[in-house]
Amino acid sequence: MSHPDVLVVGGGIGGLGVAFSLTRQGQTVRLLESAPAFGEVGAGIQLAPNCTRILDDYGLLDEAKSLGVVPDAMVMRDAVDGSELTRLDLRHLEERYGCPYLVIHRSDLHGLLLRACERAGVELINDATVTSYENTDGGARVTLASGETYEAGLVIAADGLHSAARKLLVDDRPVSSAYVAYRGTVPAEQPRVRSVDLSEVVVYVGPRCHFVHYGLRGGEMLNQVAVFESPKALAGQDDWGTPDELDAAFAGTCDFVRDGLPFMWRDKWWRMFDRDPVMTWVHGRIALLGDSAHPPLQYIAQGAIMAIEDGWVLGEHVARNRAEDGTVDWTAALAAYEAVRPEHCRRVLTTSRKWGELWHLDGLAREQRNALLRARDTYDYSFTDWLYGPTALTPDQEPEMFTPIPLDSADVGEPVPARGT
Ligand code: FAD
Repeated sequence: MSHPDVLVVGGGIGGLGVAFSLTRQGQTVRLLESAPAFGEVGAGIQLAPNCTRILDDYGLLDEAKSLGVVPDAMVMRDAVDGSELTRLDLRHLEERYGCPYLVIHRSDLHGLLLRACERAGVELINDATVTSYENTDGGARVTLASGETYEAGLVIAADGLHSAARKLLVDDRPVSSAYVAYRGTVPAEQPRVRSVDLSEVVVYVGPRCHFVHYGLRGGEMLNQVAVFESPKALAGQDDWGTPDELDAAFAGTCDFVRDGLPFMWRDKWWRMFDRDPVMTWVHGRIALLGDSAHPPLQYIAQGAIMAIEDGWVLGEHVARNRAEDGTVDWTAALAAYEAVRPEHCRRVLTTSRKWGELWHLDGLAREQRNALLRARDTYDYSFTDWLYGPTALTPDQEPEMFTPIPLDSADVGEPVPARGT
């Protein structure tokens, strides 16, 4: 390939997703990844129907289902006393939105997208760290740390939370939430795995902490995530989020939650940052995508999903703006992308922050939250329709496209989505 149609910077879930989407629309794509090999760190990831609908369109859903688990329910519990607060019936949810809720190992999702890119003919290049971006006549150019340069008609920067490309558009910094996540998996032979219902995704919400678990790889392992607010972070200390803080943060939680802590990986943890929303993602022929554009706090489990949606939406607009000879009106395609995605992602980012505040309440506020959640109808989807309905291609599309199916099962009564991590 001399100059490809598109350069993608970053081979995470977002970069691979858009590379596949654009190749499917007839574009030649070269992907540059700084790491020496492709891969994902961490354990599970939750994929709501607004993502599995896209995987289905890509012809990848069956493979994703075979690698993941399609749980029956999502349950929210109080982390202090262990009692159930609310639940989603994921079978009914699948019926309503037309696609399943899936949990999958991160490396399985990443591997699935990587194989799809390989099959589609994406040129994948490792050890390629992009250090600068510039627009050219009719396209854009990137320069690598090695001094090499690459050009294309479009450059997509899917380079994550610490994106270098984002600096072209806004002079901001990641915002620390002072929360930190520990992850870990429990092998199937452990009694703990047999003690839980692997058909459920469960989140225990507690004062300044929460704990999530769900089964992975057909029940071969239990994925666990423990998240808490770090007192050292609040005090401005650099060394924050250490294992002693993990144990202290969960000291007041129920036995089941505390018994899960020894299974967390104690040698690595993820400090949780997001960024304030920005509404401009396009600079000439350079466009942001995924966490570079909209890194969220993960409380509504939409970070990777938004990245996959970005790629699908851009692909659809390439199809709409492609002439018979195959040339794409990139200006029009990028304008359409930027007209719809930033507002949706802004809403996800701000909702995620608020959702985290709700999860981590203490004292009287915690009791009031619990009372509200217990009163919620399991089949009330007013919190999820905007999120799990079809991904909008135009700003005015969402309300028109989503036609809720009538509710016919009124026999269960519990409340709101338990999601995140
Ligand atoms: P990244 O995954 O950060 O990928 C960026 C890639 O770019 C990397 O491969 C990096 O090496 C490469 N790169 C960076 N700089 C350069 C450069 N200069 N040159 C070349 N390459 C470069 N999301 C969900 O949808 N569901 C969930 O359940 C969920 N749970 C989460 C739980 C936790 C604890 C956390 C922290 C996040 C969670 N997320 C979840 C969010 C999700 O993981 C991210 O939003 C998503 O992975 C972002 O993908 P990305 O490809 O945009 O960025």
